[in-house]
Amino acid sequence: MLETLLEEFSLLREQEMMDLFHGRGKKERKVVGIYCTYCPKELILAAGALPVGLCGTREETISAAEQDLPRNLCPLIKSSYGYAKTGKCPFFYFSDLIVGETTCDGKKKMFEIMSTFKPVHVMQLPHLREAGAGISLWRGELHRLRARLEREFNVEIDDAAIWEAIEVLDREREVVKAICDLNQLDPPPLSGLDLLTITWSKGYCSDKEEVLARLKEIYVAAQRPDGQKNKRRKGAPRILLTGCPVGIGSEKVIRLVEEQGGYVVAMENCTGYKRLELQVDRSIKDPYEALARKYYSIPCSCMSPNKSRLELLERMISNFSVNAVIDLTWQACHTYNIEAKTVGSMVKKMGLPYLHLESDYANSDVGSLQIRIGALLELVAAVPRRW
Ligand code: SF4
Ligand code: SF4
Repeated sequence: MLETLLEEFSLLREQEMMDLFHGRGKKERKVVGIYCTYCPKELILAAGALPVGLCGTREETISAAEQDLPRNLCPLIKSSYGYAKTGKCPFFYFSDLIVGETTCDGKKKMFEIMSTFKPVHVMQLPHLREAGAGISLWRGELHRLRARLEREFNVEIDDAAIWEAIEVLDREREVVKAICDLNQLDPPPLSGLDLLTITWSKGYCSDKEEVLARLKEIYVAAQRPDGQKNKRRKGAPRILLTGCPVGIGSEKVIRLVEEQGGYVVAMENCTGYKRLELQVDRSIKDPYEALARKYYSIPCSCMSPNKSRLELLERMISNFSVNAVIDLTWQACHTYNIEAKTVGSMVKKMGLPYLHLESDYANSDVGSLQIRIGALLELVAAVPRRW
């Protein structure tokens, strides 16, 4: 039952793609391509458009990207740009507008090149979270995006439509969080790959009510032990994955953990838990202020300082009874790479093994990753469980 539901869910992306190809979705709805968790999707929905994540997660387009971009750039940026340049991503092709943010330098500069062949709107994300002007600057950027969407799609976005979109996305987030939280159980009902399938695929369906209904079915099925996909082992090493975003195609670390007997019970990164606790504060009357506050508190390493990531990790380690933390940095991602020192110290202070991996989208390092992850799992088995 759970297996079937997950398989069907993983097909949402292909279904939406077919709709775009056959012109069904396109006729009714504009498409906005996005590349980051900071993008305020509520404004895009309120404009009547569909926000779709375009982050590249496969190696196949990287060589094309390297004709325009430096080789020593994060694979996520190169893959994303490569898909855009080669026209291999139908969602990019059908996007009427791209919305980017000034998160890391690589993405920011890549958007400049992308804007030579696609309409791109870049939002200025302030990086000093504790500086007082950050929120008001970001709120201003939400207004600037609203104006661009209105102009681009010839619509008017009123506050009621924004609140409606907030309600839709908050409900979706609540269910996804409830599904992820089921993995606090031992054994975890869902594998790391199941979690990734859910968090990755949900963004591609234009019918948000359908997504919600399917997510609820998965939640119910995952709670029934007989509905579980595989017989899971109680007491197996429970790994928390943090660091750079992973997606379908760049999930090699999750696979290597689970092939060697561990479970990735939770992911703190952007394809996991990073934004799941963040709900919009409805007591704030101005929807722009409410959205600005929510998005500005996302604990990404592009923020300085980024204490809330440490707090989130600490909570997750405890709530998910984690035995070890793997911190994955994509090559040339300076912010996550540097932050690994702080994360490692915190995890070790909590008495847990910590493994920092630096990798890219190629498979050339799978052998060495396998050995290092295998050693971590052995270490976990040798260390008495703290939780
Ligand atoms: S890791 Fe940071 S920059 Fe990358 S998608 Fe997430 S929020 Fe955006
Ligand atoms: S993984 Fe790092 S370098 Fe790559 S896009 Fe995200 S923040 Fe930028």
